[in-house]
Amino acid sequence: MKLQESVTSLRGVGPKKAEALARLGIETLEDLILFFPKSYEDRSRVIDIAMLSVGSKCLIKGTVIRKHENRYGRKQRLVLKVADATGGIEVVFFNAGYITKSVMEGEEYLFYGQVSENRAHLQMIHPAFEKDDGRRGLVPVYPLTKGISQSELRKLENQAREVYSQTQELLPSEMLEAGRLCPIGYALNNIHFPVEKQALQEARYRFIFDELLTLQTGLFAVRQNMRNKDNGISFDSSVSVEEYVDSLGYKLTGAQRRCINEITADLESSRVMNRLVQGDVGSGKTAVAEAAMFKTVRCGFQAVLMAPTEILAKQHYEGFKSRFEKHGISVGILTGSMGAAARRDTLEKISDGRIQILVGTHAVIQKDVVFCRLGLVITDEQHRFGVNQRTALKAKGDNPNVLVMTATPIPRTLAVILYGDLDVSVIDEMPPGRRSVDTKCVSDRERAAVYDFVEDQLRSGGQAYVVAPLIEESEAVDARSAEEVNEELNERFKSYNVALIHGAMKQSDKDRIMNEFAAGDIDILVATVVIEVGINVPNASVMVIENAERFGLAQLHQLRGRVGRGDRQSYCRLIMCGNSEVARMRGKIMEESCDGFYIAEEDLKLRGPGEIFGTRQHGLPDLNIADLARHVNILSHAKECAVEILREDPELSSERYSMLRRRIVKLFGEDFALNL
Ligand code: ADP
Ligand code: MG
Repeated sequence: MKLQESVTSLRGVGPKKAEALARLGIETLEDLILFFPKSYEDRSRVIDIAMLSVGSKCLIKGTVIRKHENRYGRKQRLVLKVADATGGIEVVFFNAGYITKSVMEGEEYLFYGQVSENRAHLQMIHPAFEKDDGRRGLVPVYPLTKGISQSELRKLENQAREVYSQTQELLPSEMLEAGRLCPIGYALNNIHFPVEKQALQEARYRFIFDELLTLQTGLFAVRQNMRNKDNGISFDSSVSVEEYVDSLGYKLTGAQRRCINEITADLESSRVMNRLVQGDVGSGKTAVAEAAMFKTVRCGFQAVLMAPTEILAKQHYEGFKSRFEKHGISVGILTGSMGAAARRDTLEKISDGRIQILVGTHAVIQKDVVFCRLGLVITDEQHRFGVNQRTALKAKGDNPNVLVMTATPIPRTLAVILYGDLDVSVIDEMPPGRRSVDTKCVSDRERAAVYDFVEDQLRSGGQAYVVAPLIEESEAVDARSAEEVNEELNERFKSYNVALIHGAMKQSDKDRIMNEFAAGDIDILVATVVIEVGINVPNASVMVIENAERFGLAQLHQLRGRVGRGDRQSYCRLIMCGNSEVARMRGKIMEESCDGFYIAEEDLKLRGPGEIFGTRQHGLPDLNIADLARHVNILSHAKECAVEILREDPELSSERYSMLRRRIVKLFGEDFALNL
């Protein structure tokens, strides 16, 4: 067997199984051995039946005293009476014909499962069972998909052990030793079939490190590309942005001023700008971006701004038109839903320079979009974009200046690593007159009172958002849907205009509804999280979030940021169902603070596994075993190694790093190879 061979070379894998495995991202044997358990069952100790406690998962060893079958409702039920020297227990299987045949009375087996109680009898329902072959220890539990069972996957992993010896180290041995990392063969053995907990820890550490090293080296490689220090465009320093600033109708905050100055200095220097503008929701990042675009255009170049959603792109477009056209600057928009004729026309105007400022969704990075003199590229809400998309946008010009904007506050330790190459400007001041959004958590029994409150707000001229986690009702998920809420509110608020918006709607309908809401013709907008990013309707003063327990803190904070954007006192009501401890804590943090950085720090402390602070929030690829929040120390070690490796071999072209190179491509996707 060869590492790069298809899994179909394993016993028991035909086309069907191969398909199921592919759904788990497993195509080659290498994929298989790098597919790690999500947890382990501790089967290291056999427990006496007399010592079992209800609710725990245990391994017992007993003889089948009696075996009988009966019907239970419409199900076939197999009941085994199992006993050891200390006592007895009932083992139950439903609809499991093949088990009936494979279990013999009078024989002894190991059973592993959760102990339950039925009318004072101890029970195990559907335990794993096998003949005792003397092996004990931690048994891996893999993530599954339809068409493949836990025991099948375990058997395949076991077969694949044969190829462990063919795997290459990711790192030279000096680095392994310096980092106290165990060898790859040992790590593979112990992540899949740990002999004891200590060995498992070492193996996990090793693979977490590997993954973070892959991530970090990949990110640095992108940056080498992005960072061409000298041959940038220097913009004319006599071109001022004051004309634009004066036309805004409000006074910039000190923080906005500072950011604009930093950006202007970058633009005027011969170095290419690579700057991140970080500012909480509502801090006024748009004006900063606009000043940069104004300067760019006045210096004779084009600027493009890429937004993560079509709604947001449209909103920026309307805003840009109203603020730029009076200065004689032309603005265009490009989105995925445009008709062919309009698109052709726009492309032409981009390529001959008639459009000076372009705004759009990721449609702006498509191949046929050709600029004539691109001087500045901006991504808004950059955490919504992948690394690849950011690079693709930059590639539209000849070393254009880059500005990325984000409202996702990230803890400083991480920022340094993830955005280490970027200069950072922080907008740490809110426009004057902003009052903090009055936030309260309520239980779902108090919904009627929340609606009364919303009505008060509408009467005094405000508008409201009501957000629900689902689009339509689902049997599988116990949560409110936007459709259901919309119906209910239409009933409750007969004399008001209530409308629904969600991601699955036609673009033209979404546009119409957003426009009507912005114009004040719609009083209550019922929505899914499509409105999470960027939407700006300053007259909206209430945000109601249904099933708030289902959202992470970062998301709640973003959603709440849709209100409190004008001078109206604004309110946020979080309707909580159930009584999860984490949800309660999140609610409390939301009630206490409107400060994104504080919330991000708290989020980090609170979060459960795989939640909220996912890599998605930062436009990074999904990680398999590492966790950016929890493994910050390992990450900083990985960062040092990445720097060293790239210093030695900037292209990763040597044999020594071929494995690392391959992993990077796998992690970031095929497109990424182009950047190395
Ligand atoms: P975000 O940083 O979330 O993208 P926006 O740029 O959309 O925020 O700005 C939010 C709102 O605040 C907008 O209505 C904008 O016109 C307004 N605004 C921005 N800067 C100021 C300021 N200095 N004074 C008053 N209002 C401002
Ligand atoms: Mg914004």
